[in-house]
Amino acid sequence: MASIDLYQIPVKEVHGVKGKKPEELLTLGIASVGDLLDYYPFRYEDYTLRDLTEAKDGDKITVQATVVGVPLVQMYGRVKSRLTCKMMADPLFITAVWFNRHFLKDQLKAGTDIVLTGKWDQKRLHLTVSESEFPGKGTSQIGTLQPVYSVTGALTQKWMRQTLKQALTQYGGLIPEVLPQELLAKYDLMPRKQAVALLHMPGSMEEGQRARKRMVFEELFLFQLKMQAYRALNHDRADGVAHPLDMPLVRAFVRALPFTLTESQKNVLAEILHDLQQPFSMNRLLQGDVGAGKTVVAASALYAVVKAGYQGALMVPTEILAEQHKRSLERLFESYGIQVALLTGSLTDRQRRDVLGALQMGMIDVVVGTHALIQEDVFFRKLGLVVTDEQHRFGVNQRSVLRRKGLNPDVLTMTATPIPRTLAITAFGDMDVSTLNELPKGRKPIKTYAVTHDMLDRVLGFIRREVAEGRQAYVICPLIEESEKLDVQNAIDVHAQMQFAFPDYKVGLLHGRMTPAEKDEVMREFSANRVQVLVSTTVIEVGVDVPNATLMIIYDAHRFGLSQLHQLRGRVGRGEHQSYCVLIADPKNEVGKQRMKAMTDTNDGFEIARRDLELRGPGDFFGTKQSGLPDFRIADMVTDFEVMERARDDAAELVRRPDFWTAAGYTLLREFLQREHITDSELLD
Ligand code: ADP
Ligand code: MG
Repeated sequence: MASIDLYQIPVKEVHGVKGKKPEELLTLGIASVGDLLDYYPFRYEDYTLRDLTEAKDGDKITVQATVVGVPLVQMYGRVKSRLTCKMMADPLFITAVWFNRHFLKDQLKAGTDIVLTGKWDQKRLHLTVSESEFPGKGTSQIGTLQPVYSVTGALTQKWMRQTLKQALTQYGGLIPEVLPQELLAKYDLMPRKQAVALLHMPGSMEEGQRARKRMVFEELFLFQLKMQAYRALNHDRADGVAHPLDMPLVRAFVRALPFTLTESQKNVLAEILHDLQQPFSMNRLLQGDVGAGKTVVAASALYAVVKAGYQGALMVPTEILAEQHKRSLERLFESYGIQVALLTGSLTDRQRRDVLGALQMGMIDVVVGTHALIQEDVFFRKLGLVVTDEQHRFGVNQRSVLRRKGLNPDVLTMTATPIPRTLAITAFGDMDVSTLNELPKGRKPIKTYAVTHDMLDRVLGFIRREVAEGRQAYVICPLIEESEKLDVQNAIDVHAQMQFAFPDYKVGLLHGRMTPAEKDEVMREFSANRVQVLVSTTVIEVGVDVPNATLMIIYDAHRFGLSQLHQLRGRVGRGEHQSYCVLIADPKNEVGKQRMKAMTDTNDGFEIARRDLELRGPGDFFGTKQSGLPDFRIADMVTDFEVMERARDDAAELVRRPDFWTAAGYTLLREFLQREHITDSELLD
């Protein structure tokens, strides 16, 4: 079946994608027509006609109305104006209100039909109009659902809508089916072609839901297929490293630590040490709340492996974290003659060459770096253990990259986002799970307060007091989901505000538009207390450890997910001083209120995770992304959990069938596995 591969067609082939547009699309990860079609909206703007009597106060709605009154204009200065007009929106008489649109006045003749979209004020029977249309004139969005895409930079919503429509016209018919027919039939799923079209342009919410259902299954099924195929192909291979550990030596290392391990650190370390000695390669998830002491467990395992004659690697998501971990490992390994090196993108070519050479010759025992660590040109003499920290799961793809280099190290993945056990086992079907369920003794719990925006002066006073005592503060800016640009603008505004409030202190700024080098610089300044107040968007790294920072201020806290709030709070409370977290929020809805309550009620990450799941109903169309779990384009690990389970069973069954590996009906799935490096041709013979 020689189908056209839409992922091979450059996006500029879509009419209207010219000039700088391909480049701008690339910043969203869109290079091909296939990528573009897979760029789903995250919600819809609803212009379907509604009945006002069913609307709730504050709803954004679209209604049909007839002009009944005389329009009235009030001018404020030259450009600002307020236009009001009585309307009949059956069965209610309402007042439509426009701001700065006084020129519409002449069109509002009694008896004229009009469609109004706006915010409904139920008490005063006012509709504050954001868009209005006279039916029958030009193109109309009346009655439609319009997709809302995540766009940045020069790309606009309108342009994205047009472009996707155009892409569907040109290429929609060529979208191939990837799911096996039997699964489509089993779950009554629509063809991929139709689902993609409907996700971008649903006729109704129900249609959108059905399209989503199909794509959720596909996404989870492909995810599970990868894991199950990897398992099937590598089943029972006892070709890992059986580390000959020197247990008395390891015990001595642990005894010499500056503190006693907690019971759960001891248990987890024992599990890891046991795995390391087996000939199967370990694949273990270590989860524990922020501050539970995962690093020292990992360090002990690395120590054990090095003393057994192997090398270790520690991978982290960012350079800042890499440097921080390198420093703490060096401190712990100081008196044991263990060589630790850093391998990150900011090394000079020469430095990089030196490190690579030393790694290959076995002169470096432990290398710390970003994901660049596993690149093609990195070779180890004897790699025995890979540890990855925070969020970035070491996927089966990376495992097979290593395997192709003839390496099959043990892998330990650490995460600070606690996941209920059942969820973890399904999401990480190929992993064993260890849990740190207690914090080291003597930690002072962080005091958390929820305040409203009108208390900002008091919050500033609080910051001033802590900084005067020699402490430092983080200020996290509001989150704007739809636009990174606005996020950055917010941070710049808050930064200016803080500089004004604290002329005697140094106020730093950190946001996503800065280069890695600029971010590193700011973080270094903050670590050294040359910056006292750090204003940041959420780019502030998980895992960042500045013990002298005792104050975490979060603007618009109700907009953040609970897990994220807990992660942010975990940046303080890491030293000897009492720490505080101040959530500034005016939650309008129940979920927002419950989030604030959960945060002030408890410091326990597992309890937070439990409440987070509870609060996340089926309300969100596309769900919300939760860190710590695999990042899906459209599926939501939590609300789509049952689908995930079914997808796992189906995938496992499929890869066990001999005809899966040969029959024509599964060609695309096999190609997918090949692209993901799960199958290499030699494994398929
Ligand atoms: P996380 O699990 O968030 O990665 P870390 O490993 O960064 O936590 O540990 C947080 C802090 O607690 C570090 O300063 C570490 O040295 C300290 N720590 C770890 N284990 C213990 C312990 N058993 N007793 C006292 N302090 C500990
Ligand atoms: Mg950590």
